[in-house]
Amino acid sequence: MQSLYDNHNKHLNASSVSPRLFRHLLIIAMVGFSTIWAIDVSSGLISSFDARAYPICLIAFALMYALSIITKLNHQCLHFMTYFIVAGYLTSSSMWHHAAPNGQFSNAAQWLGLNYVIAYLFLEVKKAAPTTIIVFTVTIIGHFAVLIQQQSFSDTLGVVLNIAIAHLIYIFLLWTVIRLRIKTDKAAARADMLENYAYVDLLTRILNRRGLEKVFSELRLDTEEQKQNYAILIIDIDYFKQVNDTYGHVIGDKVLSHIAAKLSRVIHPNDLLGRWGGEEFLVLTLNRTPQQVMTLAENVRAGVSHLIIDDITGITVSIGIAYSNEAHSNHDVFKIADKRLYAAKQAGRNIIRAND
Ligand code: GH3
Ligand code: MG
Ligand code: MG
Repeated sequence: MQSLYDNHNKHLNASSVSPRLFRHLLIIAMVGFSTIWAIDVSSGLISSFDARAYPICLIAFALMYALSIITKLNHQCLHFMTYFIVAGYLTSSSMWHHAAPNGQFSNAAQWLGLNYVIAYLFLEVKKAAPTTIIVFTVTIIGHFAVLIQQQSFSDTLGVVLNIAIAHLIYIFLLWTVIRLRIKTDKAAARADMLENYAYVDLLTRILNRRGLEKVFSELRLDTEEQKQNYAILIIDIDYFKQVNDTYGHVIGDKVLSHIAAKLSRVIHPNDLLGRWGGEEFLVLTLNRTPQQVMTLAENVRAGVSHLIIDDITGITVSIGIAYSNEAHSNHDVFKIADKRLYAAKQAGRNIIRAND
């Protein structure tokens, strides 16, 4: 129910890593690093850098995992720390391998693109952009610094420019994809909001008839397997036309919204409230005894009668109640409640009717 109101308040945030997903990613990272470590060791190709870096990274990932469980630490902060463990490893590994005097063959450089992919996928967009610029700058300067010690200036420049262009293309493409994603997220949020407006009564800020009908159909109260006990209360303001005639429509509107607010306070959070028509409200309450339903109706009746709105007092409501076990379809339960409302009016108003 609540989601009808809440949807349009959703924050647009391209980083949607929940704590659970974050921990799953950490496990994947630990498995990935362990596997590569095992392969490197068994093939005898492990470098002295990786022999130290792999266990350090694994311990750091395990620490992040533990922190994500045992503390209430800001998760954004953990994401950042984890990101810098990965980015730090990949960048320093590539630099270390480029620094080797005999120019030994290395896989390290081809992993560097991951630094940008991970940043754009898992960090907030606002933070991903400056982060990638920092990582890019460190990568370029770092590689230049190590290469220039072994190679000529022109060779160094050639390699570094190559890295720079490739990385800038990575960053640009990722940035474009994320911009597109933000655009579609915004459009979806807007569509959500407009849809919610269609179900909410703007004057009273409770569900309108369409919204009520939508929730009824979602609850599937009619179907056999979903058969739930429920009661319907149709609440109609007495002599409301006189309020309009005496005080004007604007005050009439104010009375309507105050009554709706009162009803929202009186009902249980699980009950459903909506504006059924002009000055008619509807409450649907699930799995309550007739005694509890009567108490609810009495609270509504008494609560409204005590309202003072702009010095207007003595506003009352009449209420018709019907129970799901009195008819076979929602429609017939409504008809019974409506008939009892009419009877309550006939009997003098400010009255609750729950039987014929
Ligand atoms: P009863 O006790 O028989 O229910 O009498 P009533 O005057 O409340 O009933 P009636 O159906 O004669 O009049 C309902 C009035 O509610 C007429 C209409 O102008 C008013 N109304 C309906 N919707 C709104 C609204 O959104 N704002 C205002 N101010 N008045 C409304
Ligand atoms: Mg009416
Ligand atoms: Mg009325």
